[in-house]
Amino acid sequence: MQNLTRNIMIALVLGLIVGLALNYVPDNVFSIIDTYILTPVGQIFLNLITMLVVPIVFISIALGTASLKDPVQLGRIGTKTITFYITTTVIALLIGLALAYLIQPGQSGVFDTASASYEAEAAPPIMDTLLNIIPSNPVEAMANAEMLQIIAVALFLGIALARLGEKTEGIQKLLEQGNDVMMFLVNIVMFTAPFGAFALIASALGDAGIDGLQSMAMYMITVIGALIIHAAITYSIAIGWLGKTNPLTFFKNFFPAMTVAFSLSSSSGALPISMRTAQERLGVSKSVSSFVQPLGATINMDGTAIMQAVATVFIAQVYGVELGVSQLVMVVITATLASIGTAGVPGVGLIMLSLVLQQVGLPVEGIALILGVDRLLDMLRTALNITGDATCAYVIDRGEKAKEGKTAGIPES
Ligand code: ASP
Repeated sequence: MQNLTRNIMIALVLGLIVGLALNYVPDNVFSIIDTYILTPVGQIFLNLITMLVVPIVFISIALGTASLKDPVQLGRIGTKTITFYITTTVIALLIGLALAYLIQPGQSGVFDTASASYEAEAAPPIMDTLLNIIPSNPVEAMANAEMLQIIAVALFLGIALARLGEKTEGIQKLLEQGNDVMMFLVNIVMFTAPFGAFALIASALGDAGIDGLQSMAMYMITVIGALIIHAAITYSIAIGWLGKTNPLTFFKNFFPAMTVAFSLSSSSGALPISMRTAQERLGVSKSVSSFVQPLGATINMDGTAIMQAVATVFIAQVYGVELGVSQLVMVVITATLASIGTAGVPGVGLIMLSLVLQQVGLPVEGIALILGVDRLLDMLRTALNITGDATCAYVIDRGEKAKEGKTAGIPES
């Protein structure tokens, strides 16, 4: 793991240098390098890891739930997890909104709104997504990688396995072996991570263009500032106060998973590695980690919420629209629901942003303004998204272990 993190870090730095350098080659040369080298390498890595996501989420939630034999414990952990996720998302949104009003990243008249055009991809209606959590056809849910639905099926299976006990030992064993197979495959796939990380960052930076980045500097600073504040204050308080652990030790130990999430821009993709990191380097028990983290990779996206809050205020400012208190409350509600209904894959945060904008009556075309820099911000917010999931798992695990009188906390390395 240590070597892997080092290699990924080296790859990211090299990718950064190459990506910046690519801004100085002619556009057609960049386009050839990007189309034939960077994008395919990045895509292969992304596909390799995405291939494992559905089975991993299904197996880990089923096993995690089955291991919580006592329904009271399942209910307690479930309630705590959801409460933690919703509370931190709302705090993230408030931080994003406050910082955006403080920094005022968008000034009207500076950006060219007349030529801004954005084809909003049809975002799924949030209520439909939430109401359809229980699938009528579990196989279809898996085929379409409908994460919320897969989680629901896995929960039911886990509950049944816990209740039936010895009678279903065979299925339990099968799932455990399936889990071993998946973890083995994750290890193999991770060998390719440095190449993937290099290609993805070089392509993202080359694509964004330095000029593009400069004009969006204030917006980016606001989003990045809010991401840092959320980690440094919200998560640190949770880790220090509820988890009784030095937040710096926590972040240092979880850092390898953050680098993977950063290069992948996908919470779901980073899930295998973030679960392993939480279990091995943060000492979170397998049962809590396999229940809390896959759930979080799907329903908890604080980084995405922050981007949506800042982007909404930014677009309002650029278009010279004043947002009233009721509209701001609407932003918080819609973005929280959107974060639950958003799949942890690259770029979806932006698609869901169109829902938030529509709710408050802002022009969806405004998204065109932030499109160019979104890939980079996606990398950063995804790293925060999975840190939130791990923080929740850590805090809950400590609480559970304290109840059982077991020692908990980060293992000495
Ligand atoms: N890429 C993010 C994630 O997977 C979602 C998003 O904000 O687009 O966590």
